[in-house]
Amino acid sequence: MKIDVITIFPGILEGPFKESMIKRAADQGVVEINLVDLRDYTHDQHRQVDDYPYGGGYGMVLKPEPLFEAVEDLNNRSGSANPRVILLTPQGRRFDQHLARELAEIEHMILICGRYEGVDERVRTALVDEEISIGDFVLTGGELAAAVVVDAVVRLLPGVLAEEASADESFTEPLLEYPHYTRPSVYRDMEVPPVLLSGNHGEIARWRRRQSLQRTLEKRPDLLEKADLLPEERIYLEDLKKKQS
Ligand code: SAM
Repeated sequence: MKIDVITIFPGILEGPFKESMIKRAADQGVVEINLVDLRDYTHDQHRQVDDYPYGGGYGMVLKPEPLFEAVEDLNNRSGSANPRVILLTPQGRRFDQHLARELAEIEHMILICGRYEGVDERVRTALVDEEISIGDFVLTGGELAAAVVVDAVVRLLPGVLAEEASADESFTEPLLEYPHYTRPSVYRDMEVPPVLLSGNHGEIARWRRRQSLQRTLEKRPDLLEKADLLPEERIYLEDLKKKQS
């Protein structure tokens, strides 16, 4: 997969993309990530990327010309037929694991990080394929949102994690993951559940599944409406609900 991130502050993203899992994925050739400085697509002495909003009002707006030129240049240089152009914006589709999985199928995506009041509307209407928000809050710029999207997508690419690692994770099904414990088996009088020390893999799997159901009921009951559960799992949840009330 190839990911281009267009930004006026490439330095913000250098750290996150040079560490840990993303670095390993890049070193293995699973992903190629390019930080593209929007100012390289300006033609004036001051490398100006923003301007005042028509109609007046607070703040600056990212100009259309450098963004169109940057995307067109990346498009021309791309070996892939049709890169997906994504604008990070609080007004976009809410990012979640489902969308991360969808994006992990794409060969080449171009992420545009907004700044200030955002981007000229013509970028949104004529250049961008999709708008993504990482949540209902406003960040100063799209860089941290891009880092979130890249992290969530890259870890899903084949070969980045061991296959089993993502199989039980929260949101793989619409359920939260079960709790984890590591050594020591007793810490400050707090004991690891004995089933996890039993070596009985069937019992461990059953315990984990039930913990997952219970956690989801406690923390995110809305997810359960979409979960594909066995009849006995539904009965288990009904029993839990009765105990809670
Ligand atoms: N004036 C815009 C509005 O009210 O919708 C907010 C602009 S925000 C200060 C600057 C940039 O940060 C945006 O253009 C976008 O790229 C990025 N951004 C802010 N919040 C975001 C979010 N929740 N998800 C994705 N990107 C976000």
